[in-house]
Amino acid sequence: MAIIVPNNDQDCGWTTALPPRTPSPALSGDWTTDWVVVGAGYTGLSAARKLAELLPEQRITLVDAQIAGEGASARNSGYLVDSTLNDGHLSDTGLAAYQQKYALNSRAVAIVEDLVKHHGMDVDWDPSGKFHAARGGQYLEKLERFSDTLAQLDIKHQMLNASELQARLGTGYYQHGIHTDGGVMLQPAKLARALLDILPESVSLFENTPVLSWTESGQGYSLKTPQGTITARGILFAVNGFMPALGLKQQRVFPLTLTASLTRPLSDVEYAAIGNPKPWGLLSAQAMGATVRLTEDRRIMIRNTAEVWRPLNMALTPLAQRQALHVTGLQRRFPSLPADMIANTWSGITCISANNANVFEQISGQVFAAGCYNGGGIGLAVMYGESIALKAAGGTSTDIDMIEQRPKPKWLPPSPFLQWGIKFKLAGDRRQAVDER
Ligand SMILES: Cc1cc2nc3c(=O)[nH]c(=O)nc-3n(C[C@H](O)[C@H](O)[C@H](O)COP(=O)(O)OP(=O)(O)OC[C@H]3O[C@@H](n4cnc5c(N)ncnc54)[C@H](O)[C@@H]3O)c2cc1C
Repeated sequence: MAIIVPNNDQDCGWTTALPPRTPSPALSGDWTTDWVVVGAGYTGLSAARKLAELLPEQRITLVDAQIAGEGASARNSGYLVDSTLNDGHLSDTGLAAYQQKYALNSRAVAIVEDLVKHHGMDVDWDPSGKFHAARGGQYLEKLERFSDTLAQLDIKHQMLNASELQARLGTGYYQHGIHTDGGVMLQPAKLARALLDILPESVSLFENTPVLSWTESGQGYSLKTPQGTITARGILFAVNGFMPALGLKQQRVFPLTLTASLTRPLSDVEYAAIGNPKPWGLLSAQAMGATVRLTEDRRIMIRNTAEVWRPLNMALTPLAQRQALHVTGLQRRFPSLPADMIANTWSGITCISANNANVFEQISGQVFAAGCYNGGGIGLAVMYGESIALKAAGGTSTDIDMIEQRPKPKWLPPSPFLQWGIKFKLAGDRRQAVDER
């Protein structure tokens, strides 16, 4: 059976804002390496860099099906979070579990912050925290419970009413909210590009090189690509939502397509009409509600869809239909703005497990995999990427201990029952989220 490989659309607003770059050539012919890292998002870029640092005598190869860093890692909404309200679709229960997850996320934020500072990365770093908000009164209790949890863990935050939210956001749409002080907003494609820029020269990078199959062969592994074969002593898979397509973690994780739009910059008049607010990032209190951002350059980003249908082939999906939902979401929040402001619309593939668990493991022999960060993943991908490299190199660390304390992904039903189940769950969430989208 042919492996399904990524097929990105080309309108990611975060990527089109970057200076153009010439990709590394695709692999052609036979290639022998000690380690091959498959997938060059935050996880794979971090893993390849770390492996090269840890094993300077060994040959490290990084391959991506498309352009390095232009999968979910460039396409996400840019929330580098410490605290979470919606844990995918099933929330962690219990204070101890929440505390463990908060500690992990905080450590991941610190790792990214160290990298950004150490390398002087320009990623539009904005440490002003984030909002969680809702229009519907039924979410007030959920937000209050979240506030209690944060208070018990001494995590700085403030509950906000409608007029306080309006003053901070420039929209009167929301009735209830929380601002949490921790966490950072950033430009996701800039972070992916910056991680690519610090990749050691000793790492051989092949782009537009999808791995079509992999098998154990002799002392190592053989990976087929359209125009070549890689022979490696070990493999690190960092393909996130594409794990099941490569025969990994099937019945444990699944891909989900999220679609976002970014407007053109607001004019001075438009910006004044919404009250000249400072940049902000807001997450909905409802699982299928809208994620909305106002960027430093006065663009508004909105994401309010999640789909499981044909999730791996973004180019086949009707973007216009989703864009229409984005326009509706923007107009509800900013009725003073024109309806034709959207400059970019794109989709990305994220990876979900039923119990909000991540993948971090030695699959077999010298085959390792890291990924599946559910709704989050900027910080975790960098942390898990570095840590899986350390694990593959035989090392140990407190980061690995922390990661390995997390639950493993639970069993999921096989196709088509899984897809039916997800569609049913998403449809229910969408019905509940009508006012929050
Ligand atoms: C629209 C959207 C919004 C999001 N918002 C946020 C957010 O605000 N905050 C947050 O923390 N997280 C967010 N996420 C999730 C976050 O983007 C991911 O968790 C993170 O980027 C995962 O990084 P990764 O390197 O593991 O995966 P990816 O960036 O997906 O990288 C995987 C790479 O593997 C490659 N690949 C796949 N199959 C093959 C193959 N067969 N051969 C070779 N290469 C292959 C792909 O081309 C891709 O480049 C969002 C995701 C999306 C899609």
